[in-house]
Amino acid sequence: WHGWVNDQIEQLQAQDLLRSLKPLIPGHSAVEVLVAPDVLHAWTEECDPQSCAGLPTEGSSLRLFSSNDYMGFSAHPAVRRAAADAALRHGMGPRSSAVVGGYTFLHEELEQRLARLKNTEECLLFPTGFAANMAVVSALCSSPDVTIFSDELNHASIVDGARLATRQQGRLKVYRHNDMQHLEDLLAECPQGHRKLVITDSLFSMDGDFADLAALVQLRRKYAFLLALDDAHATFVCGKRGGGAAEMFGVEEEVDIHIGTLSKAVGVHGGFVACRAAVKSFLLNRGRSYIFSTSLTVPVVAAALAAIKLNEQEPERRKHLWRLVERLAEGLGMPAESPIVPLIVGSEAAALSASAQLLQRGLYVPAIRPPTVAPGTSRLRISLSAAHSMQDVDDLIDTLRECSIIPVKGEPQQGLAKL
Ligand code: PMP
Repeated sequence: WHGWVNDQIEQLQAQDLLRSLKPLIPGHSAVEVLVAPDVLHAWTEECDPQSCAGLPTEGSSLRLFSSNDYMGFSAHPAVRRAAADAALRHGMGPRSSAVVGGYTFLHEELEQRLARLKNTEECLLFPTGFAANMAVVSALCSSPDVTIFSDELNHASIVDGARLATRQQGRLKVYRHNDMQHLEDLLAECPQGHRKLVITDSLFSMDGDFADLAALVQLRRKYAFLLALDDAHATFVCGKRGGGAAEMFGVEEEVDIHIGTLSKAVGVHGGFVACRAAVKSFLLNRGRSYIFSTSLTVPVVAAALAAIKLNEQEPERRKHLWRLVERLAEGLGMPAESPIVPLIVGSEAAALSASAQLLQRGLYVPAIRPPTVAPGTSRLRISLSAAHSMQDVDDLIDTLRECSIIPVKGEPQQGLAKL
């Protein structure tokens, strides 16, 4: 075994795919961390050894453009206080899974608040968004008379849920990214009497584009499938109330299952499924990642409740976030649909080198490479948070220009395109 593991690591190293962890020193802001000089050095060297010269030798602060904390709630005083108070009053661990005693009035209240946010009858909390997707797809779709239709760029947890379902005889059809004609062709081929589930990310995490919800809803009317939306990146970010992509596109009523995570704009941790009461009851009894996993810790639940209240009380934050998106798009000279903005540079080496240059200047914009994205489409993935200021965005744009990652204003764009 040791030899085999070492061989695997060598192969990853040879392909430049070996990852390692970089410990950061947590800061007080949602978009700023401290990094020890040796970590910064090792990190930059891993990206691009030539970029190491001139790195700061003191611990330095990094401004993050990598966070999924789109509203900046992870560091909000009200969220911290709620978690701290709950920990002091109730302790940390929930002690068991929800079905054997790990379910409290606070869990129930959070489910009710999330159901209200998503405009559904009910909601069920999960340990993570990953576990929520696994449960929905594997529990609903594991019999031979069910077909899953899944966008090719869906999140890994949907892919894994579908793998589990197909091992138990569910059928899977993958349609080309956002290609509604391809989806319709596959739906039309589906045998009579089959139950159908169409599942898609609402806001795609590596491209920052949205699923075509208007077209999906039209197809749902024609083919009578169950529509499930993984709203991980859009919850709190989109819609007037922050209800997500379905609210933004005015199709809440026609989405059957809203899957979400508490770990991105909610700023905490955990997952949920908002749906009709019967679907909740089914998942509660058949969702293995729900039944056999410890429920969310009470401080996490209390913190998520605090974030939901903030979302209602401070809608200005969402407006600020979208103004940042506009400013970034203007500065880059290209459209941006969401707070996730990919700068596609092509080769892995180019993406790593660009990320290293930015690191040296105190900005962390991660390089995303295969297998996360297709070969030849390696990119810098910029993500914005309401905790950023306009100045942060302007600094990012200036630094991208200084490093020739984007052209100086007025010059033609080369080697950079949005997918
Ligand atoms: N769906 C999508 C689209 C995601 O990006 C993620 C997180 N990377 C998840 C689900 C999983 O959520 P969690 O981190 O809560 O497990």
